[in-house]
Amino acid sequence: MIYKRIQSLIGETPLFEISRINVPNEATIYAKLEFLHPGGSVKDRLGVSLLNDALARGKITETGTLIEPTAGNTGIGLALAAKGTSVSVICVVPKKFSQEKQTLMRLLGATVVNTPTEQGMKGAIAEAERLVQETPDAYSPAQFANAANPKTYYETMAPEILQDLPAFDTFVAGAGSAGTFTGCATYFRAHAPNVRTVIVEPEGSILNGGEPGPHRTEGIGMEFIPDYVDTKLFDGIHTILDEEAFKYARLLAEKEGLLVAGSSGAAFAAAWKEAENGPPGQKIVTVFPDSSERYISSNHF
Ligand code: PMP
Repeated sequence: MIYKRIQSLIGETPLFEISRINVPNEATIYAKLEFLHPGGSVKDRLGVSLLNDALARGKITETGTLIEPTAGNTGIGLALAAKGTSVSVICVVPKKFSQEKQTLMRLLGATVVNTPTEQGMKGAIAEAERLVQETPDAYSPAQFANAANPKTYYETMAPEILQDLPAFDTFVAGAGSAGTFTGCATYFRAHAPNVRTVIVEPEGSILNGGEPGPHRTEGIGMEFIPDYVDTKLFDGIHTILDEEAFKYARLLAEKEGLLVAGSSGAAFAAAWKEAENGPPGQKIVTVFPDSSERYISSNHF
């Protein structure tokens, strides 16, 4: 098979069975290897759908500008999606996020605007809104408020998982925008209603009633609950400490050869807890969103 468009390499990622790490309680954990995407993350799927959605709804013309608040991976996904088009991409990124991700956005032709770390994603969202006002033919897809976000995972990732593994017990996914979790959990409610759907956050995230605060695991953590999130989908919530997330990411590299980052480690830690606390022999599916390489300078490992 010869591919001619980078976007045609998005989707259909492998579902990988963890087999060299002894998971408790005779459970089997399967991971959707989203870090194998051309832009290196789960957000390549979203970039394509946000761009298509903006064009289809006439929010920008073919030569317009997309301005998006992002922790990095959505920016990379959007910049990749825009390859071969005349659409420009501006990424508004809180300064703290990894330099590697910001460099990759620039390499793909996006402009990066930094906002103060202390203002969190809310600061980036406000700055993106301001830039949209002052830029002609500009639009912010606003992943945190756009139903196209969960829809992307409903339409692509969840059916891919069920096709590869028609029966399983538990789905575990980390949440940043909660697009991945919401899209997949909604799909499983409709097509595999017995699947328990479990959401994962780092420390300093609000799902378990905590105050928003700092954490080092990138890409996950919620400062507010987006409107498209139905909390009835939370059959379980796990809050994973940064060090635990990085410890499991190191284990996955060492034992399985999976070069995944902190949010994958957090998802795996939560899957491990589900294995321990649930009935024996469960089949648990989780998602590994991106790779360790883009956090080398963050000293996570
Ligand atoms: N892990 C990483 C590394 C991410 O970049 C993201 C997206 N911010 C997520 C997990 C969570 O994905 P979602 O926004 O769909 O909840």
